[in-house]
Amino acid sequence: MAGFRLLPRLNAENRFFWTSGSDGQLRFLQCEACETFVHPPRPICPNCQSEAVSPATVPGTGVIDTYTINHQKWQPMLEVPYVIARVAIDGAPGVYLTTNIIDCPVEAVDIGDAVKVAFEQHDDVWLPLFEKA
Ligand SMILES: [Zn+2]
Repeated sequence: MAGFRLLPRLNAENRFFWTSGSDGQLRFLQCEACETFVHPPRPICPNCQSEAVSPATVPGTGVIDTYTINHQKWQPMLEVPYVIARVAIDGAPGVYLTTNIIDCPVEAVDIGDAVKVAFEQHDDVWLPLFEKA
């Protein structure tokens, strides 16, 4: 899907996440002490307060937990309609990613659909978008 996208501002905590797609792999922070996944990225595990959190690779698949179809043309270059979905990430219990479902008609998207990551690169950012698996 071409068009306008808001890009995240990179910092020391989130840089690994937004550049993870450079090798095609999706990663989330995981606590080395209790294995809790930590997203959005932050330097301390919310479960056990350990500071030993580091990026872990996940399979890159997931399931649509909920979604909405946006028809509003927020920006002139925005192509509508498009799907905003919350994806439950496989291999990372408790992690949900709010993202777009691309490369299929909006009416083909449903809750429970299996999806896989499809990175879209903008400069030094790889947005983790998803397509139907
Ligand atoms: Zn922990």
